[in-house]
Amino acid sequence: MTGLRQAALFFDAEEAQVAAGYLRANDIDALLPDHNSLTAMPHYRVALGGYRVLVPSFDLEKAHDLLAKAEETAEEEAPHCWMCGGRKFAPVKTWFPSAILLLLIGLIFPFAKNTPNLQCVNCGSRLSREEAVKHPT
Ligand SMILES: [Zn+2]
Repeated sequence: MTGLRQAALFFDAEEAQVAAGYLRANDIDALLPDHNSLTAMPHYRVALGGYRVLVPSFDLEKAHDLLAKAEETAEEEAPHCWMCGGRKFAPVKTWFPSAILLLLIGLIFPFAKNTPNLQCVNCGSRLSREEAVKHPT
């Protein structure tokens, strides 16, 4: 069977671009047919099923293997919490400028700068980005 087959589906345009670029770097002609329409109308992203990455059908298995390997490597290298092993973090915002603005002029400033620390979404423990990488589970 010839033609194009869906190798992956992403809801982020950047993630789809990276995946297609990775496949192209490994000699697979990856296409993003929904890129232009969904970039112009991102609110249709969920209705249309996201960004499809299409590859020639004879390269489908190789594309699946490459994407699975890349995802596995990314998970191994991703920072993880040394307390609970969680892999989801939220950036910790600095509160000082927002508190001063609130006290002085009553303005709530929600665009506070991120600190170099991360907060685990699972257990709430805070750690620096370096600590998250240093303590593998
Ligand atoms: Zn944790």
